[in-house]
Amino acid sequence: METYVAALDQGTTSSRAILFSRTGETAGMAQHPFRQIYPRPGWVEHDPMEIWATEKQALAEAAEAAAPGQIAALGITNQRETAILWERATGRPVYNAIVWQCRRTAAICDRLKARGLEETVAERTGLLIDAYFSGTKIKWMLDTVPGLRGRAERGELCFGTVDSWLIWNLTGGRVHVTDYSNASRTMLFNIHTLEWDQELCAALDIPLSLLPEPRPNSETYGTVAEGIPGLEALAGVPICGSAGDQAAALFGQACFAPGQAKNTYGTGCFTLMNIGETPARSQAGLVTSVGWSVKGKTAYALEGSVFNAGSAIQWLRDELGLIGSAPECDRLAESIDSSGGVYVVPAFTGLGAPYWDMYARGTIVGLTRGTTKAHIARAVLDSIAFQVTDLIRVMEEVRPLTELRVDGGASVSDLLMQTQADLLGLPVDRPVQVETTAFGAAALAGLAAGVWRDFDELERLRRSQRVFRPHREGAECAGEYRQWRRAVERSRGWIENEL
Ligand code: ADP
Repeated sequence: METYVAALDQGTTSSRAILFSRTGETAGMAQHPFRQIYPRPGWVEHDPMEIWATEKQALAEAAEAAAPGQIAALGITNQRETAILWERATGRPVYNAIVWQCRRTAAICDRLKARGLEETVAERTGLLIDAYFSGTKIKWMLDTVPGLRGRAERGELCFGTVDSWLIWNLTGGRVHVTDYSNASRTMLFNIHTLEWDQELCAALDIPLSLLPEPRPNSETYGTVAEGIPGLEALAGVPICGSAGDQAAALFGQACFAPGQAKNTYGTGCFTLMNIGETPARSQAGLVTSVGWSVKGKTAYALEGSVFNAGSAIQWLRDELGLIGSAPECDRLAESIDSSGGVYVVPAFTGLGAPYWDMYARGTIVGLTRGTTKAHIARAVLDSIAFQVTDLIRVMEEVRPLTELRVDGGASVSDLLMQTQADLLGLPVDRPVQVETTAFGAAALAGLAAGVWRDFDELERLRRSQRVFRPHREGAECAGEYRQWRRAVERSRGWIENEL
């Protein structure tokens, strides 16, 4: 009888569930989008009940591919940092989920910086002080929503990132836990001791009673409760793997050895490198989080992100109307040999690591009378590869890389992958199984449930679809990269006087 492992992949715009076979193939899948709530400019919320309802429905539908008893384990991966508060007694949320993208706590972050907390936060949590992370979102709810602080102090409320919220609901309110990778994104978690940091919780006025128990990423947290409408057939299935989406993708790409790295080419890009059992810090504004802790061994990950990558292709399509679809960007770009000296810096919302310049704005340089839309399309694809190269160059100051494993919507572009290999001077490896995030969650759960024995077995399940090897001369690429850096300089500090 075939055995399956189910993964919940709770993303920013949709809830998905995927069933994986023992050989790592996709056996069933369902997906449901849910509402994005924008109460004010810069604010982003989700309805936690909608997150649970759509995820439950996706799981019920995906599970239809299996007969009763065939699902051996359930793993969870999720949009990170998004903060939810609910009543311990009833499981009712007391406010909407404040989403990772939400900037409402920027002023709280400025005050924390003014108090000189940056070094403590970096040293203990591996993070920067930013509205992105959950800690200030919790503080905002407790400070702003009438009655919440008192209730939190009386122990009546629970906090969770989305993994906690799903595990709580799946276990019928019996289990209040989070995993180390998700805890790492709260700005409250000491990544050295793997415990909540009491001093930081105090600095943010967050009562410890609110927080879930932090747990390793691959062990049984609880089982699916009886009587959850739609999930009756899954009652008793162990929930035994959990990791935030980027950590899960690193695991799903089998980057088990220090120095192995993956990049996800989506709306933005996320590059993560396994740096082994010591949480090294980068001086260039990369963050350090727990990747996973499995069977007593913790792997840390260095992470950098690019704010605008695939979104620049969407911009060509939706705002400029230069292309009708994303694949057309490839076809146009492939119709010429190079961007003809044109550079696009898609700093639409400023620049992240290693520049950290919120005053940067998008720039196109090198236009001539002969520039065509093909040159612009090619320069946009190049800009994605250049930005990832920027990140990897600073990562390599911590540890050199031997190859880059890739996934995400824009990794289907052969030209982009080839350009990336040329710029890095490293092989770029695209796997057959593109659902690396969900597979990572399934792999963590399947390891705990004994479906897979060890990392070696998981490693063998990952098969390359294509490996792009560097073709072009290093000197030629180095010249282009220098020009890219000049273009970036032109985009920097652009709106300094207007903010
Ligand atoms: P996210 O999860 O961030 O929403 P996805 O991983 O689904 O993103 O990737 C979507 C991105 O992939 C889009 O921004 C789109 O521009 C890009 N994309 C999709 N198909 C292609 C293609 N053929 N060539 C280049 N980019 C593509």
